[in-house]
Amino acid sequence: MEIGDDAWRQRTARRAASALPEVWNLLDEISDPEIPVVSLWDLGILQDVRKEGDTLVVTITPTYCGCPAMTEIEQDIERKLRQAGHEPLRIETRLSPPWSTDMMSPEARQALEGYGIAPPCSACTAGGGQPACPNCGSNETRPVSEFGSTACKALWQCDACQEPFDYFKPI
Ligand SMILES: [Zn+2]
Repeated sequence: MEIGDDAWRQRTARRAASALPEVWNLLDEISDPEIPVVSLWDLGILQDVRKEGDTLVVTITPTYCGCPAMTEIEQDIERKLRQAGHEPLRIETRLSPPWSTDMMSPEARQALEGYGIAPPCSACTAGGGQPACPNCGSNETRPVSEFGSTACKALWQCDACQEPFDYFKPI
C-alpha cells in the first residue's frame, strides 16, 4: 500500500465513528476550488465534524498551497450547511498537525492522475525514483522547474511521450 496510509486511516476512522454521517456526506459535494475533481474530504482538508451543544463545528486544515482558496472553501462549507438547515454553525481551522499530502485519499490520487497531475510520491523525494507520467505511465520523467502552475506543483516532463506535466509535490 501507499505511504501515508496512517494519516489517511486515522481520518477515515474519525469519520466512521462520527454521529453525523449526513453532514460528512453533504460536505462530500464540495470540491477544492483549484482542483475541482477532488473533494475537500479526499484532499484531506476536511478533518472533523462534531456537535458542541447545538452548534455544528466543522474542522478544516488548510493545505500549504491552497491558502488563498481557504476563504472560498469556508464560504462553500457555510453555504452548503446553512442551505441544509445546519445552524448554528462554526468553522474551525486546525493548523496542527499540519496538512500533508499523506492525508489525501487513494481516490484523490487517482483523480489527480486523471486530471493530468502526477500525485505526490513520497518515495520519490527520498530518492526512490521519479513520479510516473500521468499521460502514459512511464517513469522516464525529469524535473523541468520547481514551480508549476501553482505553488504546490512542480513542472516535469516525460521522456517517453514528451508531454510536460504538473507534479503535486509531497510534504
Ligand atoms: Zn508520458
